[in-house]
Amino acid sequence: MPHQQHPHRDAAPPTSILPADMISVEEARERILARFAPLEATRVPLDAALGLVIAEDIHAGFDIPPLANTAMDGYAVRAEDTAGAAPGTPRTLRVTGYLAAGHLPEGEVGPGEALRIMTGAPMPPGADAVVPFEETDEQDLGPWQANPRGTVRIDVAAAIGANVRAAGEDVRSGELVLPRGTVIGPAQVGVLASLGDAEAPVIRRPRVAILSTGDELLRPGEPRAPGKIYDANAFSLAAQVRAWGGEPHVLEIARDTVEALTARIHEGLRDADMLVTSAGVSRGDFDVVKEVLQREGEVGFWTVRMRPGKPLAFGLFRGVDGRPVPHLGLPGNPVSAMLAFELFGRAAIFTMLGKPQLWPRPVVRGVTLDRIESTDLRRFFARARVSEEGGRYVARLTGPQGSGVLTSMAFANAYAICPEGVPAIEAGAECDLMLVDRELPAEPPPPTR
Ligand code: AMP
Ligand code: MG
Repeated sequence: MPHQQHPHRDAAPPTSILPADMISVEEARERILARFAPLEATRVPLDAALGLVIAEDIHAGFDIPPLANTAMDGYAVRAEDTAGAAPGTPRTLRVTGYLAAGHLPEGEVGPGEALRIMTGAPMPPGADAVVPFEETDEQDLGPWQANPRGTVRIDVAAAIGANVRAAGEDVRSGELVLPRGTVIGPAQVGVLASLGDAEAPVIRRPRVAILSTGDELLRPGEPRAPGKIYDANAFSLAAQVRAWGGEPHVLEIARDTVEALTARIHEGLRDADMLVTSAGVSRGDFDVVKEVLQREGEVGFWTVRMRPGKPLAFGLFRGVDGRPVPHLGLPGNPVSAMLAFELFGRAAIFTMLGKPQLWPRPVVRGVTLDRIESTDLRRFFARARVSEEGGRYVARLTGPQGSGVLTSMAFANAYAICPEGVPAIEAGAECDLMLVDRELPAEPPPPTR
């Protein structure tokens, strides 16, 4: 079944993966996205549906609310019995009982009668309006349980339908409530719940296998060792996958041997919709990553006109059942890996999730307070903290901009972009700001060095 669902991946490629040198960010992304399409539908429990896309039209099986009911705590009455009522000239009606939400009325409200009724309780037959407690002597009478009364004073003339919610006011039986393609946010989850199904038909989450490569890597928790560093990429990349709605599967670190890499890649291909590796794709690298990647699939090694993160590999591998699995080979430097995954992996994940229109980040114009220097005319993505000051966006760089300085990312909520071919943006000048984390506070972090 998954096979028929992926005809695009077997179709003739719009562009080959292989011949590409010095391409732009947009060209690279276009080539990558040509290999992705929405995944197949599945059903998930409502509490796992947030952020997913509805895979089939959702129709209502019944009216919501199912019965006409009261919008207020009050007295259900016949409107005509309240004609002329006002604070000086009240009407008095006979109270026949009490009805809470979730219970059904037993008798009719006859002429001269009223039923004490709580918000959400169904309207009793005979009644056509509700007089809220505030328009009666309810306040003077005290709690019903302590003092059930035989009569109520009505201080207002109620119009027919006053404070009554009609059956089907929210949703009518048979109506198209949420069309397929709708992204499920908190309100949509609520609407789905109100329709009574415990599950929703959605496009499933992509599984993204994440592989760190390198003899120098340790997993956090392992003891420190000379010459070794901790594997940051597996964690930041897995977090990006999860933040964007995918399901990360972090593989064991692959050492720089053909055997280890091959074994890890095969493990990753077992159930992944996409394989992401980091490190070993630079030009003139001693790593065996390139060799193994080429042996395992069709792989292009690209030079993208961006900094950080120039080297990028993109390939198509075969999963165990012959299913094509796209592979994204990111640079090893932690900042480069995260930026490249931001620019290419995010779009791929959103495409697989069925919401390809939603991956672009907001880009705003703003003023940079620091000079942004591009040493080699590639498009430079400087890590920055953006805030709104005096009605405009203002950006400050978050410190040293080396591609290994991961803390510069941790303090950033945006990339300040120096375009291709531009040597520098001077302090005080305008530039594009790509906002990636609106939830980071605008306060700069305390100085650390
Ligand atoms: P490479 O692409 O293999 O030349 O690696 C570039 C740099 O990134 C080297 O300094 C590596 O040690 C570093 N690096 C590679 N993988 C990771 C990782 N998973 N976590 C942190 N740093 C890494
Ligand atoms: Mg390496």
